[in-house]
Amino acid sequence: MSDDTAWVECDAEWAFWCNDDTFQMTKVEGRVPVGAVVIVKENLDDGSGYPKVETRLSIATADSIGEKVGKRDITKALTDMLIAYARRTGKLPPKVSIKKVYKNGKVDLAFEPSRYDKYTIGLTKDILGEAPEPFVKGLEVEEAPEDEAAKVAKAKPQPAEGDEPWRVEPARSSRAACKTCNEKIAKGEVRIGEATDFQGNVGYRWHHVRCAGSRVHTPELLDGFNELSDGDQDAVRSACTSS
Ligand SMILES: [Zn+2]
Repeated sequence: MSDDTAWVECDAEWAFWCNDDTFQMTKVEGRVPVGAVVIVKENLDDGSGYPKVETRLSIATADSIGEKVGKRDITKALTDMLIAYARRTGKLPPKVSIKKVYKNGKVDLAFEPSRYDKYTIGLTKDILGEAPEPFVKGLEVEEAPEDEAAKVAKAKPQPAEGDEPWRVEPARSSRAACKTCNEKIAKGEVRIGEATDFQGNVGYRWHHVRCAGSRVHTPELLDGFNELSDGDQDAVRSACTSS
């Protein structure tokens, strides 16, 4: 970004733009540079306990964050950005790896800014203006900086495996089925949520206490445990320690 970069307002709460200086996805804070690749995420909660996320890709224009565009257009924009970054720094950007080198010299790079966003960037001699394989192999590989969500997750107590603390609570509806036994969890019945995180947004896969108890080592560390009634706490404790 240079000082004379033009910016356009963006009020999406959960969005990222690809910073061409760093080739990193940067959280949108009210505005994005014109021309930037913008990824807007929306959490669609359907009560299943799974986070359902819709992703909208666009390229910011002078007066909006842009019309929705296809992955192809985004990939082209990312390709130009990646080539410029590599030429400027002599490095392969963070979160980019070599996916495949073809016999004809074409190179596919994988750009994975998150577990859920993956782009394949194909470099050919036509696109690059030189042979892709020696170009890519001559680049230094950069360590990805640890992102904020990962740091936060590490600082929290871990009641079981996973990135985020698991949760326990009375079911708010009877829509979700237990992810262990597949039967419905009745409204009001205590359920245990296996946390799944999506770039800092936490969703849960819900289980009956009896189905997931054996996977929880320290029930007191479950998010929400202290809000349960004494009776529910006892029931959860015995389900978690009885197996
Ligand atoms: Zn179950």
